[in-house]
Amino acid sequence: MRIISAVLVLSFAVPAFAAEKLVVYTARNEQLIKPLFDAYTEETGTRIEFLTDKEAPLLARLEAEGKSTPADILMTVDAGNLWLATEKGLLAKIESPQLEKNIPAHLRDPDMRWFGLSVRARTIIFNPTMIQPAQLSTYAALAQPEFKGRLCLRTSKKVYNQSLTAVMLAELGEEKTEAIVRGWVANLATEPFASDDEVILAVAAGRCAVGVVNTYYFGRLKRSQPDLNVALFWPNQGAGESGVHVNVSGAGVTTHANNKVGAQQFIEWLSKGDAQSMFASLNLEFPANESVAADPEVTAWGAFRQDKINVNEAGKLQTQAVKLMDRAGWK
Ligand code: FE
Repeated sequence: MRIISAVLVLSFAVPAFAAEKLVVYTARNEQLIKPLFDAYTEETGTRIEFLTDKEAPLLARLEAEGKSTPADILMTVDAGNLWLATEKGLLAKIESPQLEKNIPAHLRDPDMRWFGLSVRARTIIFNPTMIQPAQLSTYAALAQPEFKGRLCLRTSKKVYNQSLTAVMLAELGEEKTEAIVRGWVANLATEPFASDDEVILAVAAGRCAVGVVNTYYFGRLKRSQPDLNVALFWPNQGAGESGVHVNVSGAGVTTHANNKVGAQQFIEWLSKGDAQSMFASLNLEFPANESVAADPEVTAWGAFRQDKINVNEAGKLQTQAVKLMDRAGWK
């Protein structure tokens, strides 16, 4: 009799367990996120349905769906995009001591509506045949006349460059930032490129001596083309300097989530241990949780000091940054 009741309990427990479901809208590529969803399902039984798209259509969809959205979680890259989601009222406040402990303060929304889960560094790259690391120092120095005709940049339309400029605005003020950006534009070897990959390939080919890109693009290209003549440089490391510009890929619980508790639990799971490690390593990024080690391929690039300004500043100053870049002629 005891055995039978145990079996009955079990047979009821399984479908109830398996019925737990989460819906994630994500701007992160499927191959970078699906392994995490699968691992979570295996560990907890929670099914995860997801929709991938670019950030703008995802935000527009969430906004249009309003209260009837099926989405419990929004995952996207760049604090500029996460900030925009909060401005539109699409993310709910999360109260989680666990997330506050796992994710450093500069990598999360001060109002706890999103949390960074991986860190991407936007750094300087150089062609070692054309330039020596001793000639490099800061982002601002790339505006000096010695870099005339030697700099390659991606278009200012990409949020990564808008965030970089916005953070400079927050740290240096409008006048200095505009002078730097104008200097960069004056030093361009060629028109801005559509992608970070094109910047890296142009530097490697000697079309320009230096560029500014996110390190994971460098890592991916080096994996497929180990002989590429390009190296990383960590700028702004001197005393009193800001550190390397970093941004995040992060997530928040949607305002109209059907499963708020489950959504929060999943984000908490992503903020620790093996999930953190996997989340960062799949895209050669750095874990947001400082107690988790980066992938050996990433740590091989050397240690650096991050800029500890709250990445949310990038969002707040985004409009001002876009106007400034436009004025300065950064296409
Ligand atoms: Fe990217």
